[in-house]
Amino acid sequence: MIFEVGPRDGLQNEKTVLTLADKIWLCESLTAAGVKEMEAGAFVRADKVPTMADSEDVAVTLENKRLAADFYYLVPNLKGLDRALSKGVRNIALFTAVSDTFNAKNIGMSVDESFKVIEEIVKGAQKHKLKIRGYVSTVWGCPFEGRIPAAKAVPVLERMLNLPIAQLSIGDTIGVAAPKGVKEVLKLLPQSEFKSRVAVHFHDTRGTALANAEVAYDMGVRTIDSSLGGLGGCPFAPGAAGNLATEDLVYFLKENGVDTGIDYTKLCETSLKLSQKMSNRALSSKALQAYAANCSKNPVWDK
Ligand code: MG
Repeated sequence: MIFEVGPRDGLQNEKTVLTLADKIWLCESLTAAGVKEMEAGAFVRADKVPTMADSEDVAVTLENKRLAADFYYLVPNLKGLDRALSKGVRNIALFTAVSDTFNAKNIGMSVDESFKVIEEIVKGAQKHKLKIRGYVSTVWGCPFEGRIPAAKAVPVLERMLNLPIAQLSIGDTIGVAAPKGVKEVLKLLPQSEFKSRVAVHFHDTRGTALANAEVAYDMGVRTIDSSLGGLGGCPFAPGAAGNLATEDLVYFLKENGVDTGIDYTKLCETSLKLSQKMSNRALSSKALQAYAANCSKNPVWDK
């Protein structure tokens, strides 16, 4: 239901690099709060993404703990896949974008070239029975190419969906989408895949993430990506707010009568503790801010 991206997408571009022990604490704490699926690391180049440099250690530690959650690791190429396999990883995430310019700047490849790499990784991962998640970013807009029409995005999404992957996550990387655009894209995709194989990944740059998530939910999508506290953002979209905050999403769903299986209090306490560990970093989640301010006074809403 809720796919937590905080430990990877959320922390990746943060100035504070969490220690290995704190990263493990975070993943354990989220699991204890009821999160069943989350990103935990990335097998990318340590010199490019220093916050993820200890992903091998994260993977080994988490796999040994046998926690009641699936942990995913970003794999950009076959070398990344080898690193993941050598550490006993069972779930990986692959990524590309709709926009050639974004891909060129992010991974040095065109969309078409990226799919050739992805197809190779999928083949290799299948041999080892890994669970694969495929991300497609810049579905509604690109920081370089601007607005992306649905007619351009959908073939890229279908190409990913046609691979033997467990789930496609559709990303609004810079947070420009609004419900009308979300509907336009989702309407053109096979609805029969929504329940199990399609996820949405919204950023709250312009305050539309929750409205977009509601539209996707109403259309049958049952997996929504979010990040605790609203951490994360796109390095190519300066000033962009982070991912849809998990606390905002959990609050919204629970008040709408949808059980996410996540303990709201445990989730908020985890975020507050994480903020402390990051030199009291302010977290953008509105629900979390209300929780921090009111939970002892107004337990009806904020507990
Ligand atoms: Mg994101």
